[in-house]
Amino acid sequence: MTIDQSQVLRTYAEAARVAHEALTALDQISGDGDFGDNLCEGLDRTVAALDASPEEPAVAVAGSVFLDQVGGTSGPLIGLLLSAIGRALAEAPDPRAGWATGVREGLAAIQRVGEAEPGDRTMVDALAPARDALAEGEKFADVARAAFAGAAATAGIRARRGRASYVGDRVLGAPDPGATGVALLFWSLARVAEP
Ligand code: ADP
Ligand code: MG
Ligand code: MG
Repeated sequence: MTIDQSQVLRTYAEAARVAHEALTALDQISGDGDFGDNLCEGLDRTVAALDASPEEPAVAVAGSVFLDQVGGTSGPLIGLLLSAIGRALAEAPDPRAGWATGVREGLAAIQRVGEAEPGDRTMVDALAPARDALAEGEKFADVARAAFAGAAATAGIRARRGRASYVGDRVLGAPDPGATGVALLFWSLARVAEP
């Protein structure tokens, strides 16, 4: 099985564009309102880089774009995730193993840098269930479901990391923007790999 990396990133960019306003609104509740801009800018720049260099490995390109060019707390963290997935896809025997290894290593890097644990109301809450579902060999559609369930569950918790930790109860009822935004990556993967 092959999975068109470039198509996954292009699908993610489209999904983020559709979700842009909603992600902005979520980050207005819990932070400074720039998460939708940060994610969309990173993905739009990625698509431009892929158009300019179609031969480059797409996920690794996305990782570099987010690490080097995207602001906010989320830019470098998503950069770590995508860079780890890009590395794993280059080395793994097949794409499924590459995604599983890459998400595991990318999440580990995010936690080393950001020190968030599951339940702190961050993107870790979407990534940890996705990592586990990938390790179990679940279909990508079920990996995406696990990521969205993790993101949705953040609506019930106060934040212990990031800006949202300053606003206490105000975030209750709304899911974490970063968790919601990274869940869209797995939805995009499922759309491309299991149409
Ligand atoms: P900023 O708060 O700097 O404006 P963004 O709006 O780009 O950053 O990203 C906010 C998202 O970053 C949050 O919704 C959360 O998912 C994620 N985040 C914040 N702090 C951490 C952390 N320590 N570890 C993992 N993710 C984090
Ligand atoms: Mg923000
Ligand atoms: Mg900001």
